[in-house]
Parts: sequence; structure tokens; C-alpha cells
Amino acid sequence: MSVKPSFRVAILGATGIVGQWLVHLLDRHPWFRVVALTGSDRSVGRPYGEACRWLLGAPMPEWAARMIVRPTEPKLDAEIVISALPSEIAREVEPRFAAAGYLVASNASAYRMATDVPLVMPDVNFDHIGLLARQRATRNWSGGLLTNPNCTTTAAVLPLKALMPYGVRRVHLVSLQALSGAGYPGVPSLEIVDNILPYIPGEEEKLEREPRKLLGRFVDGAVEEAGLVISAQTNRVPTLDGHLVCISVELEEAISPEEAMRAMRGYRPPEEVADLPSAVAQPIVVRTEPDRPQPRLDRMAGDGMSVVVGRVQRCPVFTLKFVALTHNTIRGAAGAALFNAEAALRWMGKV
Ligand code: NAP
Repeated sequence: MSVKPSFRVAILGATGIVGQWLVHLLDRHPWFRVVALTGSDRSVGRPYGEACRWLLGAPMPEWAARMIVRPTEPKLDAEIVISALPSEIAREVEPRFAAAGYLVASNASAYRMATDVPLVMPDVNFDHIGLLARQRATRNWSGGLLTNPNCTTTAAVLPLKALMPYGVRRVHLVSLQALSGAGYPGVPSLEIVDNILPYIPGEEEKLEREPRKLLGRFVDGAVEEAGLVISAQTNRVPTLDGHLVCISVELEEAISPEEAMRAMRGYRPPEEVADLPSAVAQPIVVRTEPDRPQPRLDRMAGDGMSVVVGRVQRCPVFTLKFVALTHNTIRGAAGAALFNAEAALRWMGKV
């Protein structure tokens, strides 16, 4: 009988929204055992159960409630750290963990576009993890740092990946993003109830850049960005979880909506990642009802790891248009970082 892999994991920024999802997902992870939870000075030294304002529907695991929140310093008895830190803190802290030998899987945007940091969705660009070799050589780190994309990017990239063989040239997308994407306490209720905010700072720039790196080719130890052009407009709406994105795409080959749906349904992850604990057999779920996907009904598809696509139609301006939905705090954040940690271990030959 083969031995089950077992790794000690710490969560940085464990009291925030993404940190809470990490605690929840790690409660039943087959390989990862949580040994430390960290927070800011506000929480350090307090039991997690007191320091954390728990916002998930599922109860807080008892083991987590009892843990004392630790300082976010590279002195933790872990091999892997999953970072749910704000970007400005991550910029300073994450390199110190990587230099000290930890494998860091980060949610933060600080290093996503660095040329020696893999920006990864394992079922899209597993091979980009190869950048870790260059990173180790250039930065002299004994550990490593890889990142997952912005939550909304995940909704666009999976369907675009399935369409890449038809030559993706130009993309226009408009997002309707849930409140949990802004963290806690997030957007004040008096600004968002009965309202939509047509501005999310920094978001449009991320959506216009990150897919080019994710859909790029890994050649001679570097990522060559894909040549597509993206125009993005982003909106905050009063849903809790689940970012909906309306996407129009121009393709070199004018395929029909039926062929596009076949390509998306048939899209499968690379074989290296297919058996990882966070992988889903069907990364893109295609629905044909005229009023789907909807955040409340569809965000938990594939335990929150599948992107749900619907309303695939011909576009009178570009080639095709469709709607895509991602669970922003699972596929777009906590689940994404766990999937990346698993994929990095696979790339290192440890699992
Ligand atoms: P959040 O709810 O605001 O939580 C932030 C966490 O960071 C808390 O645990 C907080 O600890 C900790 N923190 C703040 N300042 C710190 C400091 N100086 N030192 C150590 N820890 C500190 O944010 P979030 O929504 O979970 O997002 C976390 C990260 O994931 C961000 O980089 C965000 O951009 C990214 N992300 C979020 C989503 C999403 O859907 N929410 C999706 C993708 C990526 P205390 O509570 O102790 O202050």
C-alpha cells in the first residue's frame, strides 16, 4: 500500500475571508495538516476562535478555534505556507518566507506579474511552475513562491483556454463581482445595498494583464505572454459569493456556439494534475438554459472549483459571447492556492 502524503501547512492572514475558506477547505484535505495560523498585531496571541469573526455557513473547526494566532514571521514549524495577506503586506513578507525555505502559495497580487514568479491555474498552465527553477537560481531562495490569479481572472481564463486552438484575438469583458471579493469588512452596506459600484480599484488592469501571462507559452525557462488584447470593465454588486463575467471574444476561426460549447465541455486538465486533491474532472461546466449560470445556483459546481459557462451565442460585434461564473473565494482564492501548492509538490516530485 502506498503511503499517503503528509505536509505541515501554515496559513498567513488566517482571520480574513480567504483565510477562513482555507481553514474550512483544509479541515478535510487529504495531504495537508494545519500547524499554524497567523494574523496582524490585532490578533496575535489570541485564540483563533476569538480573534476571527467567522463568516462561513459551515462551523469553525474545533482545532482551529483552539489555535493561538501567531505572528506572520518565518519561524513556523511548517513546510508550506498559504498566504491570504493583503498585497502590500505580502510584498514584504512572502519573499522572506521563500528565502527561509518555505514553499509559498500566494493569493496576493504583489508578485503575480514578476517574470520569475509562476502565475498558475494548474489545469490551465501547469508547465509554468517550471519558473520556480529560474526563481531559485536568480533569487537564491531555498524555498519558492507561486501565485494564483485575481478571482475574476479565473472565470475568463478557463473558457478562453478551451478556445485558444481557434485563435483568441480580442476579448471584451464586463464583471459583476460579489461582496466577499472585497474581504472583511469590505464595502459599507450603505454604499452597496440597492446599488452597483462601477469601480473596483486596480481590478480592470489585473483582468487585462493576468490572462495574457496565464495563457502564454513556457519556452526556454520563461513565459511568452499570449498576444490577445483584453478590455475589462468591473462592477461590485450585492451578491455574497460568485463573480459573473459577460465575455465577448473575437476568434481567428469563426466557430459556431455549438462547437465552442463542445470545446469547453471537452476541456480536460493536463494529466500531471488530474489526480490532485483539488482537481475537478470537469473544469468548465456548460449550461444551456437561457437564464444560467446564476451565482446562487451555480457557484458550488465542482465543490466551487468548476467555472460555469452559459448563454454561448454568436456575437454581432466579435465572434462569440457568453457568460462565465467563478466561486471567487474557492476557485478564485483559497481553493486556487491549495491547488497550486499541490501542483508545485507534483512538479517537485514530492507527490
Ligand atoms: P481580508 O478579509 O481583509 O483579510 C486580510 C488578512 O490579512 C487578515 O487575516 C488580517 O489579519 C491579515 N493582515 C492584515 N494586515 C496584516 C499585517 N500587517 N500582518 C499580518 N497579517 C495581516 O482579505 P481577503 O479578502 O481574505 O484577501 C486576502 C488576500 O487574497 C488579498 O491579497 C486579496 O487581494 C487576495 N484575494 C482575495 C479574494 C477574495 O475573493 N476575497 C480573491 C482572490 C485573491 P487580522 O484579522 O489579524 O488583522
